[in-house]
Amino acid sequence: MAIKKVWIETGCTACNLCEVICPEVFELTKLATVLEGINYSYYEGKIIEATDGCPAEVIKYDKLVAPILRFQKRKYSIKQNE
Ligand code: SF4
Repeated sequence: MAIKKVWIETGCTACNLCEVICPEVFELTKLATVLEGINYSYYEGKIIEATDGCPAEVIKYDKLVAPILRFQKRKYSIKQNE
């Protein structure tokens, strides 16, 4: 799993918890904002901690889901010498 996008929905109460937990990603001006141009996957643990701790439950993120590889069974036939 890798976080590819982080955003804050309306309803932030400006408690500053997210910036305290992860200042590399969150910044509080009047309300909390998400800094851009960052590889969010480097701070995955802190982003999840901030999301879980946000009292207004307004921090959201999208994960990059790895594709599922499917392997097909190959059928082999063995020719016998006649
Ligand atoms: S933790 Fe939630 S409510 Fe508090 S500043 Fe961050 S986004 Fe806003």
